Amino acid sequence: MKKVAISLGTVFLLLAAITLIRTVLYTAPELPAVPSQTHRMDSAAVDPQRIAQHLSEAIQLRTVSSQITEPATQAQFVAFLDWLAETYPEVHASLTPQRLGKAPLPPYTLLFTWPGKNANLQPVLISGHYDVVPVIPGTESQWTHPPYSGAIDDTHIWGRGALDDKSAVIALMEAATVLLGEGFQPERTVYLSITSDEEVGGEHGTAAVVEKLEKDGVQLAWTLDEGSFLLRGFIPGVEPAVASINVAEKGYMTVDLVAHGRGGHSSMPPKETAVDTLAHALVKLDESPIPGGLEGTSGQMFDAIAPHMPFSKKLLFANRWLFGGLIDSALKSQPSTAAMLHTTVAPTMLSGSVKENVLPIDAVATVNLRVHPRDSIEQLEAYLKRVIDDERVDVITRQAQAASRVSSADAEGFHAIAHSATSTYGPVVIAPGLTVGGTDSRRYAQVADNSYRFNPMLVTREDVHGFHGTDERISIDNMAKATVFYKDLIARTGN
Ligand SMILES: [Zn+2]
Repeated sequence: MKKVAISLGTVFLLLAAITLIRTVLYTAPELPAVPSQTHRMDSAAVDPQRIAQHLSEAIQLRTVSSQITEPATQAQFVAFLDWLAETYPEVHASLTPQRLGKAPLPPYTLLFTWPGKNANLQPVLISGHYDVVPVIPGTESQWTHPPYSGAIDDTHIWGRGALDDKSAVIALMEAATVLLGEGFQPERTVYLSITSDEEVGGEHGTAAVVEKLEKDGVQLAWTLDEGSFLLRGFIPGVEPAVASINVAEKGYMTVDLVAHGRGGHSSMPPKETAVDTLAHALVKLDESPIPGGLEGTSGQMFDAIAPHMPFSKKLLFANRWLFGGLIDSALKSQPSTAAMLHTTVAPTMLSGSVKENVLPIDAVATVNLRVHPRDSIEQLEAYLKRVIDDERVDVITRQAQAASRVSSADAEGFHAIAHSATSTYGPVVIAPGLTVGGTDSRRYAQVADNSYRFNPMLVTREDVHGFHGTDERISIDNMAKATVFYKDLIARTGN
């Protein structure tokens, strides 16, 4: 007995020693040194008040892409493009803007080409979209400043598009203007893509950009578009801002579960109606979440962030071989982190009988899935059928878009973006991440070796409420920093 106690004690001590050593040695991966950009920067050329004024004017044009078929909205898109040409004459004069689009809509997307000195280098593309989502009718009065006012106060610019994504468009235009004023020419060709239909799927504007590049035989080294930010206060205990440079985005899938019954009068129901059958199927799905966990991109992300956590949490992440189960269940208990670990399943719509006293013949649940890069559409269809395991329930795929390819977090583009973030904001945590929504990047991926999703603005949890919501805003300081970031990145692309 004593022997057993001694050896158990030894094992415990050994385990404790291993976990402690691993915790101490657990440090964030270091960025490789790259030659710094050699273009001489004049930071005085970035004028925060002028930039704020320009973003304010951009917000006042109501470029709501979901209403694009209305003539009044089309006039706003035309007005925006005219305003852009007037406000940024140097960019328009030097970077040969092309208006692109696909019938039946007029071409509202702009592609600028900034020819590089060295034609042997692969070009890059930096993108932003100027279309916005609508403000929900009736909620206008809840805004601190009217949603299309572009109000500027001491610290912020307010209105729809301030965060998503006119801020990126304006910062890009400002950065290009300043660089042109300094006589800069990039080493490699830089495309600036200013798209007009991101919020409605990009099938007219972004798709036209991709088609044009394909036709010209262009294979980009990398693309940068929205899809994440510099995040502060999102992960408890992590003090520095986290530049989440997302290397992939989830796919999108909608299925109908159709349960079949016999119908008839509700006064004499059978033991199981179509609704009961459907309910059982939904319960089975709820009880068997699609497997996932902390590996691949999500694992890389936490390996970058966890070394900055308090010791107790760092100890857990440093010893995933021992505490993996604990970490997984903690992360899966929060919707925002669970979404990063696996394909999510959300029943969103239900329908059954047309009348309260008539039994349904078919009961239908529409289920929306967000596809993790590890799962294919075919695997998910098979999984749903296997879990439901009921021949009275058909699983019908209505819409399916696979997850994006996972781009390299160890390629030149990723390093350049990371270095520009650090040189603009000072020491920040660099982490590859996964975008859980959809962006234009999935289209750009067709003509690019790597696609990254990151906007160089520092946001807090409070700021995120404005994203597609009420009181969207961005700070003047963020706009100035974003301009400096794009300037630094464009100047860095030659390396
Ligand atoms: Zn957006």
